[in-house]
Amino acid sequence: MLLVKAYFDESQNQHVPQSYLTRGAMRKPQEVPARIPPLLAAMQGLSVEIDTPRDHGMNPISAVHDMGYLRFLESAHRRWPEDWGAEVMSNIYVREGNPMRGILAETAYYIADGSSPIGPHTWTAAYTSAQCALSAADDIAAGQQAAYAICRPPGHHARPDAAGGFCFLNNAAIAADYLRKTYNKVAVLDPDMHHGQGIQEIFWDRDDVMYISIHGDPTNFYPVVSGYEEERGSGKGYGFNLNFPMPHGSSEDFFFEKVEEALTAIRLFEADVIVLALGFDTYFQDPQAKVAVTSEGFERMGRLLAYTGKPVCVIQEGGYDVDHLEINATHFFKGLLGK
Ligand SMILES: [Zn+2]
Repeated sequence: MLLVKAYFDESQNQHVPQSYLTRGAMRKPQEVPARIPPLLAAMQGLSVEIDTPRDHGMNPISAVHDMGYLRFLESAHRRWPEDWGAEVMSNIYVREGNPMRGILAETAYYIADGSSPIGPHTWTAAYTSAQCALSAADDIAAGQQAAYAICRPPGHHARPDAAGGFCFLNNAAIAADYLRKTYNKVAVLDPDMHHGQGIQEIFWDRDDVMYISIHGDPTNFYPVVSGYEEERGSGKGYGFNLNFPMPHGSSEDFFFEKVEEALTAIRLFEADVIVLALGFDTYFQDPQAKVAVTSEGFERMGRLLAYTGKPVCVIQEGGYDVDHLEINATHFFKGLLGK
C-alpha cells in the first residue's frame, strides 16, 4: 500500500486543555500538543509528505452534528464571562428539562463530562482537525489506497450534540459520512482503547455505515454507559453496530482475536472502504491501557488491514504515552504500507 500524504495544521495545537476531571479527581490533561511532534516525526521517517488540510466548510460537519451544538462550540468561549474560569466547563450536567437559558445551561447540555474544556482556540482546532479528516477522505475518494489525518483534538467520543472524552467534532464519522458520496458501503473500525460512543450514536440506525469497536470493558471505564455487546443498532441499522468489549488485563493475543472477528465482519459486509479510528492507547505502557498491545502489535494490525485489500482512511484518535507514539505510529504504518 502507498501512503502519499498525511494532514495536519499547527492551529490544531492551539487547543491546550488545562483541566481534566475524572474519577473524583482533577488530573493532568493527557490530550496535549506534545502528542503531535512524535506523529509528525513518524511520517518524516517514512518519507510521507505532511500537508495542511483543504477547507471543506461546514456542510460535511453539520451532516453529522446538531447545528445548535455547533453554534455553541463556535461561540462558547466568547460568551463565557471573563471573571469565571479560563475554560468553558461545567459542574452541572442536565439534558432533560434544561431550558437552555444562558451559557452555563448550554454548557450543562452540550459538554457531557469533565474531560473536554473549551479554550479560546478549541473551535478552530476542532474545525481544522475535522478538515484533516475530510482531506484524507478526499484522497481515498480520488483512488489513493491510504491517507492519514493527524487529528487533534480527537473525535470518536463526540456525539451529535455533545463534547466528551477529549473530543469535540467526530472526525471519523465526518469522514465516513463524506465517503458515502463516493462509496456505497463504509466500515468504521475503531480499535482505540475506548468505545467510540459518538460514532455509534451517529450511525445507530444506518445500514450503509457499519461501526465496529474493540475496546476495554466500559464497566467503570470511559465511556462507562455504552460499548456493551448488546448495543447492535436499531431499525435497518440493527446488526450494523458491533461492540467487542475486552476484559481489563486482556492479552495482546485476545486483542487480535477481536481484530480478526472485526475484519471478518467487514468482509461479510463487503465494505468498499475502511475508516480506521486509530488509537495508540492500547499500548501496554499507555496511561489509559487496559490491554497490552506492543509496538510490534501495531505493525501486525497495519498488516492485517493491508491484507483486506480495501482503501484505508486513517483518522488519529487516542494515544497518550508520548514517549512511544513515534515508534508505535512508525510500526503501524510500516505494517500498513508493507515496508
Ligand atoms: Zn482512547
